This record gives sequence, structure tokens and C-alpha cells, in this order.
Amino acid sequence: MASTPNGLPPLRDVVATHGLAPKKALGQNFLFDLNLTAKIARSAGPLEGFTVFEIGPGPGGLTRALLAQGATRVVAVERDPRCLPILAEISAHYPGRLEVVEGDALETDLAELANGTPAKIVANLPYNVGTQLLINWLTADVDHPFWTSMTLMFQKEVGQRIVAAPGSNHYGRLGVLAGWIAHSEILFDVPPQAFTPPPKVTSSVVQLEPLKQRLPCDLAKLERVTHAAFGQRRKMLRQSLKPLGGEALLERVGIEPTRRAETLSVAEFCALAEAL
Ligand code: SAM
Repeated sequence: MASTPNGLPPLRDVVATHGLAPKKALGQNFLFDLNLTAKIARSAGPLEGFTVFEIGPGPGGLTRALLAQGATRVVAVERDPRCLPILAEISAHYPGRLEVVEGDALETDLAELANGTPAKIVANLPYNVGTQLLINWLTADVDHPFWTSMTLMFQKEVGQRIVAAPGSNHYGRLGVLAGWIAHSEILFDVPPQAFTPPPKVTSSVVQLEPLKQRLPCDLAKLERVTHAAFGQRRKMLRQSLKPLGGEALLERVGIEPTRRAETLSVAEFCALAEAL
């Protein structure tokens, strides 16, 4: 069997040998392009000295890139047991540097696994649970995030919602939450043909880093406000925020009751939450 620059067999061969037919229900769209996986790993910045979490390593294309890029410790959480023997081969190739956790990332406490070490999350996420995973990590401990950066592949539309600013059609609950906790940007887009099998839509790699100074605000209250405001995003705030105090609440914070949710800055949402 031929081998790749890092001495492991080509990913396509590995997938064929192990009969790893992609499962749609698990969001399995694999990356086989070594240039692309290396580009994603490089985008995460220096990896030495970090615990690097990869969610959904699958056949391990990005995992290999992270290890080749110098990650000291990669912890990969994979739900599909068919991938485990393939990942064990990679682990044997990089002794002591790759731990594979079999399980559902939605149920996995990454902060506990990081155990106080500085951590980065780098992943080509399964799209069906990508947004929920991001919300879990963002809100795990807003005062002391366990992650120093996240470099994540999402559907482009989700990426646009994460980085959206007020006034944009994409601006909503996710943008406010992400904007309150982190600085985020879209690093680059990835076309459907880069994946096997190709998904229907373009993807984007998004990077998030915790803000050094976050506005003081209670998470649960912020979520109540954004839920109400964006639940009726076409309505004026005096209407959509009625259950939370409507005009009186808006007046306390000095926000015009005729404005709509998508025009409010993150700071204004925080002020409303604090005034609840
Ligand atoms: N990292 C690989 C790559 O880039 O080729 C695979 C990425 S694929 C988009 C998503 C991966 O996430 C699949 O391997 C899938 O089995 C795994 N997965 C799906 N749902 C998961 C979950 N809830 N927890 C952990 N892994 C999951």
C-alpha cells in the first residue's frame, strides 16, 4: 500500500479497507485533501502545549494534520465505533499523543477532560449537532472558558450567523451569544466538492477566541431577552418584549420602543438583560 508524507496509508485506502461507508445520520462528510486538512490545522495556530480537542475525527484526516502540526495531546471524541480501529492505527503512529474517546460529544465534558490544561478545539463538525456543540462550549463557563480558541467547520450559513453584526439578516440569538463571549471571524470557505460525499451547501471555517473583557451580564437573562426579541424579529421591541416588561423595560435602558431586535448591539442586549 502507498503511504502519505507522514508514513500512514492514504485516507481513501483506509476508508475502503475498513468499509467505512459514510452515514448521513452522523453528518459524515469526510476530508481527504491533505492540503486542506493541513490548512485547517495551521489556522488553529501553535498546538504545542495545548490539549487539542477534535470532535468527530472520523477516518482521521484532520487528526493526522493536527498531529503532524505538532499537537502535544489530541483528544478526539467520536461516536461511530467503526472509526475506532482506524484511529487506533494513527494513535500507534504517534505514541502517547492521541487519545480517542468513544461517545457522543453532546454528552462529553471537554472542560473536565482538559483538566486545567490550555485547550483548543479544532473540528470539521457534524452539521446536525454543530450549532448545539458550539453553544455548549461557549456557555460551559462564561467567566473562565476552558478553550483558548475554537477553529470549526460549519455550514456557511451557520458561520454567517456566528459572526453576524447588528443590521445583518444573519444576526440573531447565536450572533449575540457568540459576540458577548468571543471574537469570531470566518477564515475561509470550503466548497462542497472538498468533502466525500459532498454536502449540498458551502462550508466555512470559523475561528473564535474569548474576549479579554466581557460585558457583565447574566447568561440566563440574556437568553430570555434574545429569545423574546428574535422570536418575533419583524416586530417592534415594545411588542416582542411585552412578556418581559415591554415599553417600561426599554425605557429603563433608554432604547426606543419602536426599534427591532436586529438593530440592537450586544451591549444593548446585555443592558436589557441586566435591567430585567
Ligand atoms: N473529521 C473527519 C473529517 O474531517 O474527515 C470527519 C468529519 S464528519 C463531518 C463528522 C464526524 O463526526 C463523523 O466522523 C461522525 O461520525 C462524527 N459524529 C457525528 N455525531 C457525533 C457526536 N454526537 N459526537 C461525536 N462524534 C460525532
